[in-house]
Amino acid sequence: MATVSFWGGVGVIGSSKILIEQDGWRVLLDFGLDYTPGAGPFRAGIRPRTGRELYDRLLTGLAPRIPHVYRSDLVEGTGLEGGTDGKTALFITHAHLDHMGLIGFVDPVLPMYASPETIRLVQALASAGDRVEGGDPVFRPLAAREPVQVGPLRVTRYDVDHDVAGASGYRVETENGVLAFTGDIRLHGRHPERSLRFAEAVRGARALVIEGTTLSMGFRNPVRTEQEVDALFEEALAQTPGLVMVSLYPRNVERVEAFSAAAARHGRSLLWPAMQARALSAWFDKEMPDWGSPALSEDIRRHPEQFVVQLAGYDIPWMLDFDPGPGSIYVHANGEPLGAYDPLWDVLQDWLRMRHVPFWSIGTSGHASPDDLNRLVSIVHPEILFPLHSQEPDRLLPPPGVERWLPERGRFYNLAGRR
Ligand SMILES: [Zn+2]
Repeated sequence: MATVSFWGGVGVIGSSKILIEQDGWRVLLDFGLDYTPGAGPFRAGIRPRTGRELYDRLLTGLAPRIPHVYRSDLVEGTGLEGGTDGKTALFITHAHLDHMGLIGFVDPVLPMYASPETIRLVQALASAGDRVEGGDPVFRPLAAREPVQVGPLRVTRYDVDHDVAGASGYRVETENGVLAFTGDIRLHGRHPERSLRFAEAVRGARALVIEGTTLSMGFRNPVRTEQEVDALFEEALAQTPGLVMVSLYPRNVERVEAFSAAAARHGRSLLWPAMQARALSAWFDKEMPDWGSPALSEDIRRHPEQFVVQLAGYDIPWMLDFDPGPGSIYVHANGEPLGAYDPLWDVLQDWLRMRHVPFWSIGTSGHASPDDLNRLVSIVHPEILFPLHSQEPDRLLPPPGVERWLPERGRFYNLAGRR
């Protein structure tokens, strides 16, 4: 008998962790961190203590109490057994912290699989100093459509489209049928065919675990495509005589590439904060310039029409060095602050108002619209639907013939039986 249980992403966006068990063997899909700026025990500058991050997260309920996954030395005093049991493997869907933020605490002996691109991205970020908490993870690359056996469980990775390179969905074959997990997925990105091929590959699954981010975010249908985002950025470049400031999510390397090329077509170079410049240089294997040097600040002040400056999150005060004003623009394209729920969002608006700089929001979601979620569900047409990674999973209504089970955290669902 196979079971599935959910240790995160239940009623919240992010922190996905799905455990599939059969005959004492375990497959764990994703191992993410909560991402809740302005909420939870660690907010307003209160952080888990340095060197005791896992301990603090376990004792505040922000890391799951799953035995035999974590490094033994890190769980001392928590009452949890660490060190792998030799019968568990971990599979990561993509390089966003809400899906992999806990992997630095995992016993390095425990096999941890991810797409080659995910691994390369995590390593590029680490080489720039942007490391996951705990320690550098030890990965095993897993090619698409090449199954790997974990005892009686067979796991296959598929490429899907999301706003990060290397995004994956998984198919897990159990004695009670296939459980499929979308990871984060969409149909309006640059590679909708990947997501559709995954859905076809798991058609008729016993259970489909699908993300439902947009169900609760007031998303309207249809959403912008990545091509429309590119076109809006071109428009901003064409209309702006002064400095273009931008906030991009650097892990969306395909958009980074598209925006860099667009900037170049308009005679501008796109400059990055130092750490992001180092990570992107490692990823693209070519020098990505940063705006950190005083000489460059002078150039930007004199010739704002020659630059695009990535100014994300806590970099806001640096705009003083570039002296933006009327004629400049701030283009938000899914970088930090990620949304209005982030306290930094209002701070940014205040700064832009003070400098008389207009704000354009031109991004698009990394997540399928409600219509596209329905489309994916109807292609797969599973026997059981588990909506996850959503504040309002009950907004996803199953088509006729599909049972919906709303996951509860820590409850074991028998894939052989009824609820
Ligand atoms: Zn994601």
